[in-house]
Amino acid sequence: MVARAEETFFTHLECSRTGESYEKGEIQHVSRAGAPLLARYDTARARASFQPDALTGRPFNIWRYRELLPLANTSDILSLGEGGTPLLQAHRQGARLGLSCLYIKDEGLNPTASFKVRGMAVAVSMAVALGAKELAVASAGNAGGALAAYAARAGLPAHIVVPRDAPRGSVAEAEAFGAEVTYVDGLIGDAGRLVAERSERHGWYDLSTLKEPYRLEGKKTMGYELFEQLDRTLPDVILYPTGGGTGLVGMWKAFDEMEALGWIGSGRPRLVSVQSTGCAPLKRAMESGALACTPWGNAATIAPGLRVPKALGDFLILRALRETKGRAVAVTDDELMKASRALTETEGIFACPEGGACLAALESLVDESWVGKDETVILFNTASGAKYF
Ligand SMILES: *Cc1c(COP(=O)(O)O)cnc(C)c1O
Repeated sequence: MVARAEETFFTHLECSRTGESYEKGEIQHVSRAGAPLLARYDTARARASFQPDALTGRPFNIWRYRELLPLANTSDILSLGEGGTPLLQAHRQGARLGLSCLYIKDEGLNPTASFKVRGMAVAVSMAVALGAKELAVASAGNAGGALAAYAARAGLPAHIVVPRDAPRGSVAEAEAFGAEVTYVDGLIGDAGRLVAERSERHGWYDLSTLKEPYRLEGKKTMGYELFEQLDRTLPDVILYPTGGGTGLVGMWKAFDEMEALGWIGSGRPRLVSVQSTGCAPLKRAMESGALACTPWGNAATIAPGLRVPKALGDFLILRALRETKGRAVAVTDDELMKASRALTETEGIFACPEGGACLAALESLVDESWVGKDETVILFNTASGAKYF
């Protein structure tokens, strides 16, 4: 059987805590248990026709995996060419650390210069297809810019709520796309509460992290891309700068789907969550054996994407780290800024602070010999440094 152009194997949504099923044809946010919803696909049927060779000749962007994305009709896709970012070997940093296979996935090359577009492209396309009329998000900066771009493309109003100290670049970007930006004196969680309140009152569609199921689907494409870019293998270690954890949980989900499709076996990359010492709730939970995080008090870090005191999907992140024999590592702001400058100056990749955090964390893991010299290691540079002025 050959998949038709508009076909998806999407079947339903499932509560990530209880496994309860939800209809895919209606607007859904979180489950009745208050947990993120996960999109599920008929992988048994997909297995017969959707093998890696089916991707040959398709454009290198997130929609090459459309059978495993939730959009029913390709005509509903709102795209700015998101995804398909380069996987670059880091020769000079690799030599310095004694690693022969160190790569950087440079997500700064996406539209709006951050990887948030992967999730927003899918989530906004779905929101519009399901009838949403006004869009809203709580953001540290990049999610707001990304939502604003797709809202402009869809011709819908967007409301962005950010902490008062969010980077100017991303706020100016959201405003340029015509979004309404509101500041809160507080952190991302406070922004989230305001968005939830106003969404309830005004009927906005809340696209805050894991408050709807489809940003995760867009982010999971990073896992599929790594598989293709590494000649249909997976790396040994992935370092991911973690805030809400959508990308990390997304890749973990992608690997499970790929196994169900028969693309890979049961082996998994060791997933590493990188945080700042000023906000490291995942590291603390990993060390105490907790299944969820306790909110990090007075969270403070120069890396806005990492300043998440407690993520809605924390229990999923912790499961992904433990099941893959991974780690949570925290680095200081000083270390992550130095590392982002080093990455920029030695590799020609304009690194963001969050991307620098991954390099700084890798240094400590190499020092501990937790990473082997011949292992394939991926660092995520999640946005362009150009956005942080
Ligand atoms: C949002 C963001 C992160 C964190 O991503 P999550 O998937 O929410 O953990 C990291 N880096 C940058 C630059 C971001 O914008």
